[in-house]
Amino acid sequence: MSNELKLKFWGVRGSYPTPGAGTLKYGGNTASVEVRAGERTIILDAGTGIIPLGRELARTKRASEIMLLLSHLHHDHTQGFPFFVPAYMPNAKLHIFGPDGTHESMKNVLERNQSSETFPLGLHDMSSTKIIQSVRESQVIVWDEDGIRLAESSVGLSDEAVVIRIHKSYAHPGGVYVYRITWRGKSILYATDTEGYVGTDRKLVQFARDADIMIHDAQYLEEHYRGQLAGFPSTQGFGHSTVIMATEVALASEVGRLVLFHHDPSYTDKVVTGMEATAKSLFSDSVAAYEGLEITLTPNPSPIGRGEIMSVQLQKPSSQLSSHRRGQERM
Ligand SMILES: [Zn+2]
Ligand SMILES: [Zn+2]
Repeated sequence: MSNELKLKFWGVRGSYPTPGAGTLKYGGNTASVEVRAGERTIILDAGTGIIPLGRELARTKRASEIMLLLSHLHHDHTQGFPFFVPAYMPNAKLHIFGPDGTHESMKNVLERNQSSETFPLGLHDMSSTKIIQSVRESQVIVWDEDGIRLAESSVGLSDEAVVIRIHKSYAHPGGVYVYRITWRGKSILYATDTEGYVGTDRKLVQFARDADIMIHDAQYLEEHYRGQLAGFPSTQGFGHSTVIMATEVALASEVGRLVLFHHDPSYTDKVVTGMEATAKSLFSDSVAAYEGLEITLTPNPSPIGRGEIMSVQLQKPSSQLSSHRRGQERM
């Protein structure tokens, strides 16, 4: 059994998909991130990035049991699900967790996304087994030798258990779940669709403390957010962060590495590269997420926290990428 906690980015764009020549380097698919804890597969969000991920899981025969965590129910986090191949496989079991909508249950919203008026196949026409459960912030999602379940606390769980804790953020219209996935002493924090506060989001900082990897919304350039970018209105209150906001949270919570995520759909590769440079000047272990980015955390036999070797490997070769992404990195 693999001893690694792995991350792979399949969709890094916010709001809507952006194919085209200007987005080849970072990719145009909306939010979807694969986490592998040993042999267990956990997917964060079901934007269009989940479509190629689903094909890969089917191809490599890793579709028998999958956990899908939805941060919230906006389109760019759910629109890939109707095209997720494992959902159509009779032998696949999907455990879907997330928040209820403001007026409707999560299950109703997912069903409505595939009503006969909007999509040819409903949830019931997808032949996998789907266990759709709304979760509360106080609950803990556990995946251990007894399977996948909800618990009221993580007390007494073995280090072998994948433990997922939830922080509900109100810094996005309708609210959003921030997830912290921990396995064998290593932690990944997923904080997409969240807007920074003056003096940082203290609750988020506390929740994120010492995570090895923090994936954080960094949709906007500072001038865009402030309404100083020609042709773009201010985006204050839209529920997304600037690069500076993301780095402030990373610094305050002392995470190991910051991954900028949910890139604005109007931004070209050149703009995102510039944003990455800004992030690095403020928090050196920063990287702008791109499709194919893989990060591997290798837990120590006896977990002592951060400091182990982490490798960043490029799956999709591109001459435009800087050399640091090709090699092994130590943090
Ligand atoms: Zn979004
Ligand atoms: Zn959203």
